[in-house]
Amino acid sequence: MSIPFIDLKTQYRQIEDQIKNNIEGVLEHGAYVMGPEIGELETTLAKYTGVSHAVSCSSGTDALLMALMALGVGPGDAVFTTPFTFIATAEVVALLGATPIFVDIDPVTFNIDADDLRRKIRDVKENRTDLKARGVITVDLFGQPADYDAIEPLVHNSGLFLVVDAAQSFGATYKGRSVCSLGDLACTSFFPAKPLGCYGDGGMVFARNEALHKLLVSIRVHGMGKDRYDNDRLGLTARMDSMQAAVLLAKFGIFPGEIEKRQEVAARYAELLSEVDGLTPPSVPEGNVSVWAQYCVLARDTEQRTEVMERLAEASIPSGIYYPKPLHLQKAFAYLGYKLGDFPVSEDAASRIFALPMHPYLTAEDQETIVKALKG
Ligand SMILES: *Cc1c(COP(=O)(O)O)cnc(C)c1O
Repeated sequence: MSIPFIDLKTQYRQIEDQIKNNIEGVLEHGAYVMGPEIGELETTLAKYTGVSHAVSCSSGTDALLMALMALGVGPGDAVFTTPFTFIATAEVVALLGATPIFVDIDPVTFNIDADDLRRKIRDVKENRTDLKARGVITVDLFGQPADYDAIEPLVHNSGLFLVVDAAQSFGATYKGRSVCSLGDLACTSFFPAKPLGCYGDGGMVFARNEALHKLLVSIRVHGMGKDRYDNDRLGLTARMDSMQAAVLLAKFGIFPGEIEKRQEVAARYAELLSEVDGLTPPSVPEGNVSVWAQYCVLARDTEQRTEVMERLAEASIPSGIYYPKPLHLQKAFAYLGYKLGDFPVSEDAASRIFALPMHPYLTAEDQETIVKALKG
């Protein structure tokens, strides 16, 4: 039996009856779009995160796009974010004609560095007459919350908005607060590989403000007004399917337990890896809970990473690199004019980081096999 990177099959076996039952419910009532599961899921997840409004949508990327549209982001706006993330975080900024301004990361958490954020905001405000500093998108990378105690006052005092890209961190908490309750808006993804995933694409935006909530609901369906054929603004087709909501309702039942299991798996990895020379396991500051979307380890250098990943591959153990190329070096963002050396911490992480199999059903035995294989 090979060890999967993420084990959705074992998860399915836990809730097979519930999943089939919920999907059959959709087939029976036939409301494939905006069926009763949508409202039920939104209410359930709003309650879980402690946020007044949750708006389901078609993906994590569309959640981010809807959030920025609701906040009125457009040409001439500067939006600050990290280059050490999935492309979607900055892509949505650029799609709206606004300008992503990258900010380097913290070398331990890989999340946005509050000191560099302060510098970059000041720089735009003082030196960029062509841009208006509008907002910040934090990313809770690999499931671990960003440094919100430092970021929230900074964003607030600068008169900016804060959008939380919680695509990898649904279920994570920062000093007891759900990450989806932070910022002006928080966005998550239910892509199958995320901590809470559906069986296709899905996402959600969390809002505490009624006016923003109303805008999101309108933007989700072509900027609708009082009905579908009354259009107040331009919007999207960004609804979640009833089927995906049905799947998520079944999966949510075991999700809190899965977060617990992920903590056990992460703790076991940390212990096993402490004996391996040159490898730095991830760490989470006290008071925070990561949902371990990825378990990413730093090697000493690129050579050691290559060696370790080759040994794992020889033992048929999957591993991955998140992310091999920071966004400021991507061809898609070449027009922004960044160059190698602009974000040294992000570049260093990209050159040494690798991810091990991570899911709630990973056994102690399999973890020992994995660490033995990477030791060689
Ligand atoms: C997965 C991801 C997204 C996009 O989510 P999709 O559902 O795949 O569109 C955005 N940001 C981050 C950090 C992600 O990991």
